[in-house]
Amino acid sequence: MVWAILAAFAATFTLSHWRRHRRNAQGKCAFCAAALESQHFRADGARVCARCAQRTQRRAYIALLVFAALGILSFATYLFVIVRDWRHGIAPSLTIIALALAMPLVFFGMWLWGVGAMRGANRLAELQDRMEEELVAPLDDKLALLRELKAAHDASASDRESQN
Ligand SMILES: [Zn+2]
Repeated sequence: MVWAILAAFAATFTLSHWRRHRRNAQGKCAFCAAALESQHFRADGARVCARCAQRTQRRAYIALLVFAALGILSFATYLFVIVRDWRHGIAPSLTIIALALAMPLVFFGMWLWGVGAMRGANRLAELQDRMEEELVAPLDDKLALLRELKAAHDASASDRESQN
């Protein structure tokens, strides 16, 4: 069951990754397939239009609010248990106190990790693009020049041969 879910998740991820890549290659927004203007934004390492970039940012804020709410909720729940036990004369265990304090941090950490992963993907994609622009494209030009030179050289060599 777990493997089926994992496989389905991986398949969906691969499919959406491939679709994003294809859309970007066609000069389209990775999310909504609208034509990209010259100035493009990034989300999750893919090129997106201004509207989708804004939407992604808004979603990150909403996610922060949701995770903050979950953190507060879990803290409140543990606090409730601690106070209830206290009233019944039961001293709260250190584990429960630690959990109450740690849960908000755990949720905040999860959010930070998600945002960090997204930023990392954007940075990586930018570096790949720069490498393509500054390294691979000029190399292609030089390679074309070399091929031209070789062709010219071959042509002049065959000319000389035919003269002899
Ligand atoms: Zn878009």
